[in-house]
Amino acid sequence: MHLVIIGNGITGVTCALTVRRLAPTARITLVSAESPHHYSRTALMYAYMGHLRLPDLKPYEDWFWEENRLGLAHATATALNTAENLVTLSDGTTLAYDQLLLATGSESKLYGWPGQHLAGVQGLYGLPDLAAMTRDTHGISRGVVVGGGLIGVELAEMLHTRGIEPVVLVRDARYWGAVLPPEEANLVDRQFRENHVPVRYNTELREILGDEHGRVRAVVTTAGDEIACQWVGLATGVVPNLTLAKTSNVEVDKGILVDEFLRTSVPNVFAAGDCAQHRRPAAGEVLIEQLWYTGRMQGETVGHTLGGQPTTYRRGIWFNSAKFFNLEYQTYGQAPAGPTEGISSFYWEHPSARVALRIYFGAAAPHAVTGFNAMGLRLRHEVCEKWIRAQAPAATVLAHLGAANFDPEFFPQHEKAMVADFNRQFPGQPVVLKQRKGLRAMFG
Ligand SMILES: Cc1cc2nc3c(=O)[nH]c(=O)nc-3n(C[C@H](O)[C@H](O)[C@H](O)COP(=O)(O)OP(=O)(O)OC[C@H]3O[C@@H](n4cnc5c(N)ncnc54)[C@H](O)[C@@H]3O)c2cc1C
Repeated sequence: MHLVIIGNGITGVTCALTVRRLAPTARITLVSAESPHHYSRTALMYAYMGHLRLPDLKPYEDWFWEENRLGLAHATATALNTAENLVTLSDGTTLAYDQLLLATGSESKLYGWPGQHLAGVQGLYGLPDLAAMTRDTHGISRGVVVGGGLIGVELAEMLHTRGIEPVVLVRDARYWGAVLPPEEANLVDRQFRENHVPVRYNTELREILGDEHGRVRAVVTTAGDEIACQWVGLATGVVPNLTLAKTSNVEVDKGILVDEFLRTSVPNVFAAGDCAQHRRPAAGEVLIEQLWYTGRMQGETVGHTLGGQPTTYRRGIWFNSAKFFNLEYQTYGQAPAGPTEGISSFYWEHPSARVALRIYFGAAAPHAVTGFNAMGLRLRHEVCEKWIRAQAPAATVLAHLGAANFDPEFFPQHEKAMVADFNRQFPGQPVVLKQRKGLRAMFG
């Protein structure tokens, strides 16, 4: 069998490694336009900030691929002919496949703003973007970041560490308004303020202005303000990269349509990771998942199927984590940003405004826990998942909070305050803090 994988991101590489393990004799070729070797996309910002060197972004040594008989083609796949099982590469060669995985990832979403193609205007997705940002922000004094999501705050922090003033434009009234409730968004806003990063809420980009050399010199906002700057970072989201899929008869919508085995509409062609769109996502799951760990899970799942062990994809309980300057963030399960029918939440914040915990639970008895937001503290992943899966009542979770404690010094000081706050906010049946128990004692 010859398995060809387009894209050497976390999805493609996880699939390749899984198949290599399950099918030692399979021929496997990874095709990637961006870099000959797999690297950690999530660590791009640390290379810019000087915390890591470029070679440090590669989780595997360069000899690893040959050692594991994984063929690498550093080229763009420009056309897909599913009738003849052929992929055409930008170097003019063709690759014949028995099985094909499309793991082509995402690309930055642009909105057709006037001036978006000026020099010094870019998104941040891959290595060429990192190189462009490094070159174009050298020696400048101000950059405008458009977008109030995770990449927006990364770009602001990147500029900030190089002494460049970032001005952030956020469409919503608060930071990441679609995801974070107002209290959590306030904590992030505090990080912006402490780091002297001006944020303009309720503000969108209208136009980017260039100078006589075709280089950005200012942006104009929807509020009518002109902000002088020498660089613009567009962080307004990503969309599945469908360029190759669209050269073929593989069915696409917003992403490449796949069933629960991550099979596309065409036999022997699979798709996974950021570029895939689930035809029938399970209850509570989304159509398109654009996360590192879901890419890895999808790569592993499709790798099992391609390695002779057909396996359906189920993401399970939602999880995400990020860091906003110095503030760590974790979220588990169903944790909506605003009022949601049938769901209540308990919010506790430390007086320092650097630590907070929100526990979501069903509004009706038995008040089964549905999700968590943790800011500035770390919860144990497996404990949160088990509580959500077991539909543990909120009172039980509060009484055993110590079991989720990841930071040994933190919880013991604050559990009492959290429980006291909960009892004040929900005075029905007072919760009594229980002795710490191991997971086994709680779940059997
Ligand atoms: C700056 C940044 C920070 C992020 N931080 C986080 C984070 O903290 N946590 C998190 O969960 N997620 C994060 N993400 C998202 C995460 O990186 C992606 O969800 C994940 O990388 C998707 O993996 P993938 O393998 O599906 O696609 P990708 O990583 O996009 O890999 C696809 C590869 O395929 C190549 N390719 C595409 N088309 C072709 C073609 N025709 N021929 C050859 N090669 C092709 C692309 O060049 C690319 O290298 C971040 C993303 C970015 C951009």
